[in-house]
Amino acid sequence: MPSRSSTVRIGTEAFARPTEWFGLEDCEITSRGLSTPAVQRLIHARSAPPVPKWTPGKKQDSAQDTRAQELIRKLLYARRTDSIALAESVCNEATSLTWVSPRVQEKMDAAVRSGRLWAEKQIADRQQLFASLERAVADQHHGKVRRLLQLAKAATKDDSSESVNHVITAATDYLTTVATARKKHLNTLLDDLDGSPQYMDPDLFYAKVLELLHAARTVDAISPQRRAQVEAWRKRSGVPAGPDQGCPRCGAGNWLPCLVDTTADEVQGVPHDERMRPIIEERKERQRA
Ligand SMILES: [Zn+2]
Repeated sequence: MPSRSSTVRIGTEAFARPTEWFGLEDCEITSRGLSTPAVQRLIHARSAPPVPKWTPGKKQDSAQDTRAQELIRKLLYARRTDSIALAESVCNEATSLTWVSPRVQEKMDAAVRSGRLWAEKQIADRQQLFASLERAVADQHHGKVRRLLQLAKAATKDDSSESVNHVITAATDYLTTVATARKKHLNTLLDDLDGSPQYMDPDLFYAKVLELLHAARTVDAISPQRRAQVEAWRKRSGVPAGPDQGCPRCGAGNWLPCLVDTTADEVQGVPHDERMRPIIEERKERQRA
């Protein structure tokens, strides 16, 4: 004969949960009536502040996981746009982010590790670039300064520290000084020709105009007025307007200014003799013919 239990059991139904049964001894009488431990738990859960905590098996990403994914994407963006400052701030936030699920944490840790290595390499490259730029300014290598300054400006678009500004300003000042000197040299040559005697040795005149054309090529922003003056002297001297044969010594072609032999992109003030002589010889041949 089955024994019938006379124990009274109290059930608690809560939304989306199986009914929990408790013995009377586990329940208590409160101002609201009879209360089971399940009810106590529910009341406690509602009054306690929500604890952001990762729970295993939970399908949905927590707010922490979502933030971690955002940081991983932001780090990729920082690397793509060469922004060291952004990469560093993202890495710092990522390392202080807590309660991330193990799966996402692993991904974020890997991203931070490679992000930090990337930033270190960028900083080392940048230091090298700035050292080279400073050296080029000290050595007065105009072409090299111009090339490196462009790279340095692009690399530090998000960095306005004093050391960076100092090097960039020094390089910019140097380029301005050279540009001013080249303009002045062109003006001096024009003044010389303007003030030259009515009769000048034709070879000397021709050579002076070639030097003038060369100087005009070294000036970056030549005014239309200056260009017209140079062109007038070219016509008077009979130097052909078309492309020249280039320089056999430094390889500068098509009326581009001669280069200093040792460094590939340094323009020199006076064209090489090897370039001038055939042009003068050719003129003599034309006159004899
Ligand atoms: Zn040359």
